[in-house]
Amino acid sequence: MTPGETDAVAAVADGRKALVGLSREALAAELAAFGLEPFRTRQLWHWIYHRGATSFAVMTTLAKAVRERLAEAYVIRRPEVARDLQSADGTRKWLLRMADRHEIETVHIPEEDRGTLCVSSQVGCSLTCRFCHTGTQRLVRNLDAAEILGQIMLARDALAEWPAPPDGRLLSNIVMMGMGEPLLNFEHVATALKIVMDGDGIAISKRRITLSTSGVVPVMKRCGEELGVNLAVSLHAVTDEIRDQLVPINRKYPLADLLAACRSYPGATNARRITFEYVMLRGVNDSPADARALVRLLQGIPAKINLIPFNPWPGAPYECSTPDAIQTFGDLVNAAGYASPVRTPRGQDIMAACGQLKSTSLRGRDALVA
Ligand code: SAH
Ligand code: SF4
Repeated sequence: MTPGETDAVAAVADGRKALVGLSREALAAELAAFGLEPFRTRQLWHWIYHRGATSFAVMTTLAKAVRERLAEAYVIRRPEVARDLQSADGTRKWLLRMADRHEIETVHIPEEDRGTLCVSSQVGCSLTCRFCHTGTQRLVRNLDAAEILGQIMLARDALAEWPAPPDGRLLSNIVMMGMGEPLLNFEHVATALKIVMDGDGIAISKRRITLSTSGVVPVMKRCGEELGVNLAVSLHAVTDEIRDQLVPINRKYPLADLLAACRSYPGATNARRITFEYVMLRGVNDSPADARALVRLLQGIPAKINLIPFNPWPGAPYECSTPDAIQTFGDLVNAAGYASPVRTPRGQDIMAACGQLKSTSLRGRDALVA
């Protein structure tokens, strides 16, 4: 075992199977094949996803002999923490190393009434949005369900929330807004989120989960039907001409198709609005005329608008809009009846924005002090 490798990673190398990330049905099938009675699935599920057990030894509702047999065949794995960074404002960021040494990031953002975990769905991203640092990295691979779920379970470990209280949780909300495009890895994202939503386990309700997409139109309906989570759409422009440049997937699925998919998103109501993310880029998409066009475009869609000040990165081809431009834009959108909070940047001292820490680690491991 090389230094820094966890027992769990080594354990998988010895041929034991990982249980985290198997759907309830897959776990039941696995345990049945192993010769255990059906009710054992419920017991194990409870230990793994409600109590957060990482070893079979603590599972006292199972006979000792069963625990020993399980430990010989299986492992309950967590991703390995390569870096753990804490911001002065309480934001915490983990750089996680997968078994194949690839790294991803997960960010926890504590707020007064909630704690949100920003989860990654891919290593890198195949889309090349021009303002996004992740977009400058190539897609390495999709994360599997265990790796997506592992981010949430590891955060619960760190926040000491096993079992989690019904109210006032430090980890109460999830946003699929880390690295990657979740709708281009839908199968694994869906398996992971179904486990997260399961009431006998991690039990985070679909109302507290938001999936952000750059606009993978053909998968949006399935996302609403199968998962019913809140949808956030990275809109960022009001004309195809500008959006083609900023979010190149627009060339494949233009604004009209994207907005039609939003209009028919299952479960979108005035009580559960679609969030439209709009990154404020100086002189590109931030004029009063853009704000008015945005309002017209969203007519008839139950919408919230989230204005995001552009988070600059070295070599970025854009600058953030001026505070005045953001203010004027926000006022126009507000006047049209939309809530349009400006997202306050969090964790800037630990580079908690999309893709940044991963890229730093690619450039040189001494660039940050953990
Ligand atoms: N791939 C998905 C989810 C991950 S990105 C998507 O594109 O929606 C999460 C959000 O951060 C998106 O709205 C994205 O457009 C935005 N974002 C990416 N880079 C940014 C930057 N440098 N400054 C501000 N927002 C950024
Ligand atoms: Fe990928 Fe989202 Fe970044 Fe676009 S904004 S490159 S879809 S992670």
